[in-house]
Amino acid sequence: MSLDFLGNLERTHLCGTLRAAEAGKHVVLMGWVNRRRDHGNLIFLDLRDRTGIAQVVLDAELCPEGHRKGEQVRPEYVVAAVGKVRLRDKDAINPKMPTGEIEIEATDLRVLNDTRLAPFSPSDDAIQNEEVRLKYRYVDLRRAEMQQNFRLRHDITLAIRDNLSQQGFLEIETPILTKSTPEGARDFLVPSRVHPGEFYALPQSPQIFKQILMISGFDRYFQIARCFRDEDLRADRQLEFTQVDLEMSFPRQETVFGVVEQFMKAAFAAAGVELPVPFPRISYDESMRQFGTDKPDLRLPGLTDVHSAFTSEALATLQVDPALPIVALRIPKVGELSRKEREDNHPLFDLKKGAKFIDDFKRLAKSFPEAAAKVRELAGAADEDFVIIVAGDPAHHIKASDTKFPGRLSEREINVYAAAGNFRAELAKKYAERHGAFRITDEVVQNARARSAALIDGSQAFHPMWLTDFPMFEYDLAAGKWVPAHHPFTAPIEADMPNLVSDPASVRANCYDLAMNGLELGSGSIRIHRKDVQQQIFASLGITEQEAKARFGFFLDALEYGTPPHGGIALGLDRIVMLLAGAANLREVIAFPKTAKAIDLMAEAPTPVSEQQLKELHIRVALKS
Ligand code: ASP
Repeated sequence: MSLDFLGNLERTHLCGTLRAAEAGKHVVLMGWVNRRRDHGNLIFLDLRDRTGIAQVVLDAELCPEGHRKGEQVRPEYVVAAVGKVRLRDKDAINPKMPTGEIEIEATDLRVLNDTRLAPFSPSDDAIQNEEVRLKYRYVDLRRAEMQQNFRLRHDITLAIRDNLSQQGFLEIETPILTKSTPEGARDFLVPSRVHPGEFYALPQSPQIFKQILMISGFDRYFQIARCFRDEDLRADRQLEFTQVDLEMSFPRQETVFGVVEQFMKAAFAAAGVELPVPFPRISYDESMRQFGTDKPDLRLPGLTDVHSAFTSEALATLQVDPALPIVALRIPKVGELSRKEREDNHPLFDLKKGAKFIDDFKRLAKSFPEAAAKVRELAGAADEDFVIIVAGDPAHHIKASDTKFPGRLSEREINVYAAAGNFRAELAKKYAERHGAFRITDEVVQNARARSAALIDGSQAFHPMWLTDFPMFEYDLAAGKWVPAHHPFTAPIEADMPNLVSDPASVRANCYDLAMNGLELGSGSIRIHRKDVQQQIFASLGITEQEAKARFGFFLDALEYGTPPHGGIALGLDRIVMLLAGAANLREVIAFPKTAKAIDLMAEAPTPVSEQQLKELHIRVALKS
């Protein structure tokens, strides 16, 4: 059909904002045809823009020209409708639509553009295959749910910026083309054309620069920072992601917590959710004991220590290590898991890691009825609850770190708790699939605020938790040495510093994580601000002076120029939005995400490049055949 020009037509209103109070007004609306219904002399167009939908009536008598065009218009055509707002007849009122009391009696219709037929329409109720959605992302993003997600993302980001600014933080940009940073993931490298054979790295975080900004006296810095890590993708990971990154001078842990609690409160308030502060705190060891993970989901029952339920005879018969924890996990109201569900989860109980699954409660109940009853009692299990028990495998030993943790959990203990914790998290998913809890409700659309509150059956939706007192080092069995559990600029807790060399396992890091609903939202630390301590840490990590100089030399130099005590944190903005949007996946809150195979299906990246480009960059590609 022939298309019209916009001419000097100016939009006066947004579709979704019209109400009965506007009746009688002349309006000019512009947007996409969401649906079209042809009733002969009357054609109804649902006109959609980012605020919602309004119904336009093309009456063959009142607007013959518009009606004629209306016959040819198809969904997703772009049109301008000129007309008068009028109240609908009583029986035509649609209480489900915010604009359901009115309609626009058109006097003119301009068809501004037509469209090719996409494989799906934004007005489809059924959610499409994700690959198709990502390929036609421009159409997908028109869907009300996606529009909502990005409005929410905007509101949250704005609230965080405002709040941090009020708290005295300056937003300062740091370079994207830079040098490898210390987060420990793989770097994305960018070849330098002017320096043959040399590479920039994309930042895994602004870590070093933000610390330098503290040396430079900015006192409080933040940035909504894009970070790049070349890692394998999962539902809660992307190659590039956005962090709320901040750093401050002269803080204690508590100072950082206070700042974060304030901006998180503001961010959640922007989504209509009240987040009580301060957030609860738990030490790493305690979190492992109670939840078997360092990112606890407080919506599920915790683990229970049931060691006392077993006699030593029972333990010997069951072949579990009596020196290790025995923990029970209660799954509410699930009854028995199917055999398949149990088998599916078996790989979680990686026996090499030293954990063992007492998987057949019925058999236990037969041979050791008292122990079985006691376990159920300790775990607080009702009849309809399912209980599993995880214990240590006596056949498994970890040489280097078996006994080195006075007053702390050992690796073997941690492994038992972690196996139970993994199982707990996996079961939560199954539970969700079966019972609909933790599932996003389908009445997604109207309002992100209502959605975030209605996410999870019955329980309070959002459970933040600070985790503290992490071990400073982890023993890397393969490499046979202690490695930092965090980046190597993390300070040890001052009281533990004398043990750095003599007993590294006992040293706690002055760092903290923020977890929420089973996700790690972010982590941070108080940093090392003294050269002598930094050298000690490098030494205890087996990083030679030369190595340190090559990797972070400029930063070590900067440390010598009057560095104040400082610390900070970075929280995943995408994850925060994902939680508040009730989305199951980060891709729902990132406009142009990559797939789990690290591909941008719309832009078709990555791609090979021309010989000429490679030549300019002094690169030759040698593919393994
Ligand atoms: N740079 C750290 C990270 O991205 C956060 C921090 O220590 O502030 O995990």
